[in-house]
Amino acid sequence: MRPDPELVKPMLIGETWITRETDALPSINPATSEVNYHVSTSTKADVDMAVASARAAADEPGWRTMQAHKRARLLHKIADGIDANSDELARLQMLENGKVWRECQSQVAGAASVYRYFAAACETLGSEVTPARGDYLSMTVYEPYGVVAAITPWNSPLTMEAQKIAPALAAGNAVVLKPSEVTPSAGLAVARIAQSAGVPSGLLNVVTGPGATVGRELVAHPGVRMVSFTGGTASGRSIAGAAAQRLIPTALELGGKSPHIVFDDADLDAAITGIIDGIFQGSGQSCVAGSRLFVQRRIYDEVVERLVSRADQIRVDLPDADGAQMGPIATFRQREHIEAMIESARSDGAEILAGGYRPQEERLSAGAFYRPTLIAGLSNDATAVREEIFGPVLCILPFDNEDDLVGQANDTAYGLAAGIWTADYRRGWRIARRLQAGTVWINTYKQLSISTPFGGFKDSGIGREKGLSGVRLYQQSKALYWQLDSSPE
Ligand code: NAD
Repeated sequence: MRPDPELVKPMLIGETWITRETDALPSINPATSEVNYHVSTSTKADVDMAVASARAAADEPGWRTMQAHKRARLLHKIADGIDANSDELARLQMLENGKVWRECQSQVAGAASVYRYFAAACETLGSEVTPARGDYLSMTVYEPYGVVAAITPWNSPLTMEAQKIAPALAAGNAVVLKPSEVTPSAGLAVARIAQSAGVPSGLLNVVTGPGATVGRELVAHPGVRMVSFTGGTASGRSIAGAAAQRLIPTALELGGKSPHIVFDDADLDAAITGIIDGIFQGSGQSCVAGSRLFVQRRIYDEVVERLVSRADQIRVDLPDADGAQMGPIATFRQREHIEAMIESARSDGAEILAGGYRPQEERLSAGAFYRPTLIAGLSNDATAVREEIFGPVLCILPFDNEDDLVGQANDTAYGLAAGIWTADYRRGWRIARRLQAGTVWINTYKQLSISTPFGGFKDSGIGREKGLSGVRLYQQSKALYWQLDSSPE
């Protein structure tokens, strides 16, 4: 069933769903260019109300002193609600960013498991007794910041939002979520689920609208005590600047241009699949996409030939079509950006080995589709090789030896992820330790676990989400000293 294009979706402030028709933004289905519905744009007063509700909820003794196992129970209930509404959540994401159905479903399951992980984590982490240098007891206890602003991008809203809301609540905070204006509905739907799960009102608020207004107002709000942001590096830099003025901490998960490396002793069947999935899953709109491929010169021609054959066979289709491997680009604007980058590659003398154009099928003509694209013949300093394209575009470069490789791979502003394919485990270790990246995969790619901390080096970010330390990201430590000497001097 088609959603109602006239509908204006409300946002959640405290316990109230509020609709703002003025400046409401259309949600566009990138597979068809149809308007799905409209979504409210928060006013500054709405942001103030959301932060005030969050502040009151965070200060509420019932929440501040809630025992960890009870907080965990709430997170489990949210997870159960996500599972129970999985088709609806997957569909909302598919309508808004065009990810293929199978991937949307697996991201819903992933989001539920994030809530369960942090439910367990909040019961696991405790206070610490630290070594004393005298007759006293010293302890470290961990306390929430209060109100956390969570700001998220459009490529994987379900998982990105779960990775912020679940640990922030587990840590005892209240959250104001500002989802991407492209994909606001997953966050709104999860907030409704949280309400039904009995999460006290005000602990999770969702304000919707553009980053340049609503996002900025949220970060600048004096009631917000911590900002957790995932998105582009330029936005991250601006948010970090605003937060620095206010002296509040930020966690920043930003962009990437990750090197994917194949040595001449690698298992090529596995490597080719890893490279293809590593760049083309999600139409390349993944922060960890392996978008710069370095191939040892001896096997360069063979690898290129096999990649071209695989890329040409990828089925680009409507996201809910049986067997679709790649849906559209999430927005028409993003496709324009990709096309501009391909033009820049062409003018720098690139050879386009596969793709480089919109698919020709009539049924895809109204959508923001783009063919999987392979580019060769550029040097490491060409714009298309240096800048994040955030689309289905792989730049392929040869290398001669380890020093040449590491020099090229690290010659980037980014440092989010990297992949290495080699049969020599000593070399895998050596190169992995030399690469400047927050995650390095050896003989695999895009393997991710909620229990493993994730984040970037250099311009790819500050801080680590996930893992037990993902709860600590949303807490500040406090030292307690207890005098034990009955007659202190
Ligand atoms: P974006 O930076 O344009 O927007 C992200 C969010 O920030 C949106 O909600 C937006 O409204 C808001 N925003 C933008 N400017 C803001 C400002 N000045 N103040 C407050 N809020 C602001 O990013 P995008 O285009 O939505 O997403 C794509 C980018 O996200 C890519 O660069 C990608 O690499 C990155 N990303 C990183 C990770 C990671 O974990 N490192 C994961 C997914 C996506």
